[in-house]
Amino acid sequence: MKHLHYCTAFTLTLLLVATSCKQALPPQTEFKMGTVCSINLFEKGTPQLYSEIFQRLTDLESILSANRNDTNIAEINAKAGIAPFKAAPETLYVLQTALLYSEKTQGAFDPTIGPLVKAWNIGTEYAAVPSPEVIKKVRSLIDYRKIVIDPVKGTVFLPLPGMKLDLGAIAKGYAADEIVTILTKHKIKKAIIDLGGNIFAYGEKTPNKNWIIGIRNPENPDENSILTIPVTNKTIVTSGVYERFFEQDGIRYHHILDPATGFPVNNDLLSVTIITSISINADALSTSAFLLGTDRGMALINSLPDTEAIFINKKHEIRVTPGLKNNISLKNTDYTVIQ
Ligand code: AMP
Ligand code: MG
Repeated sequence: MKHLHYCTAFTLTLLLVATSCKQALPPQTEFKMGTVCSINLFEKGTPQLYSEIFQRLTDLESILSANRNDTNIAEINAKAGIAPFKAAPETLYVLQTALLYSEKTQGAFDPTIGPLVKAWNIGTEYAAVPSPEVIKKVRSLIDYRKIVIDPVKGTVFLPLPGMKLDLGAIAKGYAADEIVTILTKHKIKKAIIDLGGNIFAYGEKTPNKNWIIGIRNPENPDENSILTIPVTNKTIVTSGVYERFFEQDGIRYHHILDPATGFPVNNDLLSVTIITSISINADALSTSAFLLGTDRGMALINSLPDTEAIFINKKHEIRVTPGLKNNISLKNTDYTVIQ
């Protein structure tokens, strides 16, 4: 009997040790929302938490994707010129946030860019420069001011047949915020969320220690970082010419399209990085600032609280907001930080 007691106690202790030392999973990576999504939960990386996070990404993709025919966005687009569609709260929130940036950029950032995105097919094997007729026709369909949102009924209506929403410039930022909500709910202290380069460095790396985030060289994204920045609990989002592009007749065409010309925006920029606290804002702003160019983009960023930016141009000049000046470490001497 005594022996039995001893055995039970021993087994119990072993069980306790085994549970407390249960190995966390390594960082998990899945292809979601059209991109490679990696999450690192460090010692809190249980299978349940990783699966809750990736399930949320699966759900968001099934609501917000413009590249499937069963999402809210597909339904709104299919009903363009016909009838309003009752959308999910997520769709309304992301669309309404997008429209704030359309206003801030006088329409350079426009969530009705869909027909132009489809005409260029960038990121697919059919990518090609559209004919001038196609460009002219689809440009007439782009106008964020025409979107009709009924906030009471929760519906979205695109009044012109052929109009199409595309939330590709903002959806990943929203997804990162949604993951942060899950982490907060579970009282997780730190994590790295990387949704295809859309980063959230959540919490503190270790007590009083920053995460060090590298910014890609836009001309050689697979090389070492061009510079690094220390951050704690911030999102870092970049829009750049290297993310999605194709070449035709020796000319490179990237995926950030100017509604005013119907072509990829052609200014002196290679990339714009935004550092702030809310990822949907960072995502919308990186695309917006890229579209506006250095001077107007910088003016927009400087008008916003808690928002820093890094503009890298074709002359290999790096411009940063005042809050970053003493904070960045340049790693590539082909580039110069302009004060
Ligand atoms: P990002 O990588 O966040 O800068 O977003 C680029 C994506 O946003 C593109 O692949 C398109 O889906 C979409 N997009 C392209 N041009 C615009 C624009 N002018 N306004 C809003 N979204 C755009
Ligand atoms: Mg963006």
